[in-house]
Amino acid sequence: MIGTFESAAERVRRLGDIHQAGLRFRKMRVRRIFRTLETAMSAGPMSLRELRQIVQQDYEAPVVSLYLNFSPDRLVRADRPVFLSVFESLQHTELERRTEYLQSLTRSQRMRLQDDVAEIRLFLETYRPEGARSIALFKSGDQLVRGLPLTVRSADSLTIDPDPYVEPLEAIMEANRRVLTIELSKDAATVSVYHLGLEQIIDTVKAPAEGQPAQSGRPKDEVQRHFQTHLHWHLESVARLATRAFRERDCELVALVGEAPLLDAFDDFLHKSLKDKLLIKVNPSPGATRAQWRREIDAALDRLRGQEEAAALGELGRYRAHGRLAAGLEAVLEPVNLLLARQLYIRSDLQRPGWICRDHHYLSLQPGRCVFDGTELAPVDNLADELIEVARLHGVDVMVISKRAELLDPFGGVAAVTLPVAPSP
Ligand SMILES: [Zn+2]
Repeated sequence: MIGTFESAAERVRRLGDIHQAGLRFRKMRVRRIFRTLETAMSAGPMSLRELRQIVQQDYEAPVVSLYLNFSPDRLVRADRPVFLSVFESLQHTELERRTEYLQSLTRSQRMRLQDDVAEIRLFLETYRPEGARSIALFKSGDQLVRGLPLTVRSADSLTIDPDPYVEPLEAIMEANRRVLTIELSKDAATVSVYHLGLEQIIDTVKAPAEGQPAQSGRPKDEVQRHFQTHLHWHLESVARLATRAFRERDCELVALVGEAPLLDAFDDFLHKSLKDKLLIKVNPSPGATRAQWRREIDAALDRLRGQEEAAALGELGRYRAHGRLAAGLEAVLEPVNLLLARQLYIRSDLQRPGWICRDHHYLSLQPGRCVFDGTELAPVDNLADELIEVARLHGVDVMVISKRAELLDPFGGVAAVTLPVAPSP
C-alpha cells in the first residue's frame, strides 16, 4: 500500500489548493507593464520569453535601444557622470546616421522619439549603477519601457529603429544560466528565479494547516503519521510548483536552500528533470540572509562556468593543428572581417582601442578608411567589445572567457576558429 485516502473534506481542500496554485501562477505570467524606467530597471531578471515578446510586438513609434558600460573610469565621482557624455555622443552619432529614417517619421512619431531620448537622459542623470557593469534599456513611448542592470560588460550602443536591438542582450542572457531557487522549510517555501545577479520571487507557498488530529487520545504513532502526511503534502506541492516554474521560466539549473535533512527528504519529491539539473544544495546557517546564500549559488555557477571554459578551450589545440585557428587580436580580425569565423574565444578583460565602420562591420587596429565604402573609420575605446558584438551579429559562436582567462594566454587573449576551407577569391 503506498498511501491512504484523506477524508472527503480534506480531499476537496487539497484539490482546491492545487487548482488555485495553477491559477495564480498563470495570472502572474501576464506581461508586466512598467510606467517609468526606474521601476522597469528594478523589476528583476528578464526571461527569454519576455525578450521574445518585446521583439515580436509592433511599435507605433521608433524604439530606442541603449547599451551602456560602466567601466571604472566612467564612475569617477564628478558633477556629471562620465557615462552621460558617452550617451550624448552615441545619441549624436545615431541621429546623424539615421537622418533618412528620421525624416520618414510622422510629426507625432518624431515628438515621441524626442521625449524618449530626453527621458532616458533624465534617468541616466540620477542613475547609480551600484554593482552593475552595464545596462540594457529599451524605450518606445508607453508601449515599451524596459531595462535591466547587467553584471557583465557589453559594447556601448544606441540604436533608433522600428524594432528593438536585442541581440547583445540575448547573447548575454543565453551565456548566463538561469537558476530556479527553492528555499524550503517545514512550513513554507519560496520559489524564485536567479539570473545575472538579479532575483525574482515567483511564489511563496505555505504548508497546509496541520489542524489537530481528529481525536485526542489517539495513539502516538498515529499523531506522528498525521504530521508526516502534512509534510508530505507540502513537499509534493512545492515540487509541483517548482516543476511548473522551471519549465515556464526557461530555467536551466536548480538550487535548493534549506536544512540538509529536509532537502534530502525533498529529493524524493523533486521531478527527475529538475533533479538532473541540480546545481547546488545550500544549507545556510540560521539567520543567514538571502544575499549570503546567493553568494554560494554564484560560487557554484562560477565553478561550473570555469569547467565549461576549460573544456571549450581544450579544443583549441586541435583546431590549431588543422590550421583552423587565428590567435591574437590582430590575426582574429581578419577572419571576422571576412565572415569566416565560426567560434570566438575572448578574455573578458581584453581592452585595446581601435577603429570601426559600423555600417559594414569592418574592424581595424589602425585608423584608415573602410574597405567597402571608403568612409573614415570611427575610433572606439575598446575594439574587443566591438569584436564581440560584430561576431555575434554574424552568427559566430562567442564565448567570453572570465573564469579561466589564463588558458587564453598562449593565444594572446583571443582566438577564433575559422571555417574548414577558405573559399578562393
Ligand atoms: Zn563602411
